[in-house]
Amino acid sequence: AQARRKLIAGNWKMNKTIPEGLALVRELKGLVASLPGDRVELAVAPPFLSLQAVAKELEGSAVKLAAQNCHWEASGAYTGEVSAQMLKDVGCAYVIVGHSERRQYFGETDETVNKRTRAVVGAGMSPIICVGETLAEREANRTLEVVERQVAGALKGFQAAEVAGFVLAYEPVWAIGTGRTATSAQAQEVHRALREQLVRLYDRGTADRVLIQYGGSVKPDNAAELLGQPDVDGALVGGASLKAGDFAAIAKGG
Ligand code: PEP
Repeated sequence: AQARRKLIAGNWKMNKTIPEGLALVRELKGLVASLPGDRVELAVAPPFLSLQAVAKELEGSAVKLAAQNCHWEASGAYTGEVSAQMLKDVGCAYVIVGHSERRQYFGETDETVNKRTRAVVGAGMSPIICVGETLAEREANRTLEVVERQVAGALKGFQAAEVAGFVLAYEPVWAIGTGRTATSAQAQEVHRALREQLVRLYDRGTADRVLIQYGGSVKPDNAAELLGQPDVDGALVGGASLKAGDFAAIAKGG
C-alpha cells in the first residue's frame, strides 16, 4: 500500500465564479508548493465554465485539473452536454464519474457510469468513479453488496491494463456534506473489500495499482486518520476544498 501515491481531489460542485475560482487556486498553489509531488498528487474539479481559466492559472504547477462529469457521446445533438475530448483539450487529467449527487438528482445509473467511464478513458484521461451506500443500505447491512455492484457495473468491459489507471472513490452517501464521516475502520473495511473485488475481477497487480479515495466530510482534523489506513489512497473532498487553507491542510495530513 505504501507504494501507491495519494490523490487528494477537490470537488467544487456548483460553487465559485471564475474570479473566485482563480483566487482559490492562486492561494492553493502557494500553500502546496512544498508537497512531495511523487507521493501526494492534488487535483481540483471546478465547474465546467471555470476549467479553462483555472487550467491557465495552474500552468507550471503540479496541481491537476479534473472535471465533475462528462457525456458519453463524442459529439452531436446533445444540448447542454460536454464531451470527454472537450475536457481533455482544456487540460483535464481526471473526470469524476457517478458522483452520488448525479445518481440521486440526475438519473445516473451503473450503466451510464460505465458509458461515461469509457468516454473518459477513450479521451486519454483517468476516471474518478464514485460509489457509496445510502444510510438505509448501510443499516440493512447491504453496504458491500451495493458498492460492489456499482464497481462491477462501472468496470464492465474494461481490461486490466485500463483499470490500473483508474481511481475509485468510496463515498458513503450519508457522509457527503453532512459533517458525518465514516470512521477510519469503516472506510478501511470497504476499501479493502473493493480491492479484493479488483483482485477477483482482474489480478493482484492491477488491484494494487488502483487508487481508492475516501470521500464524505473529509476535513483537516480527520484527514490524517483516514489517509493513514492501508487501503485509503487519498480523498475526494467537497466542502473543505472550497477553502485553500483547509484543502492544503488535508493534503499535508496525508
Ligand atoms: C463530495 O461531494 O465528493 C464530498 C465528499 O463532499 P463533502 O466533502 O462536502 O462531504
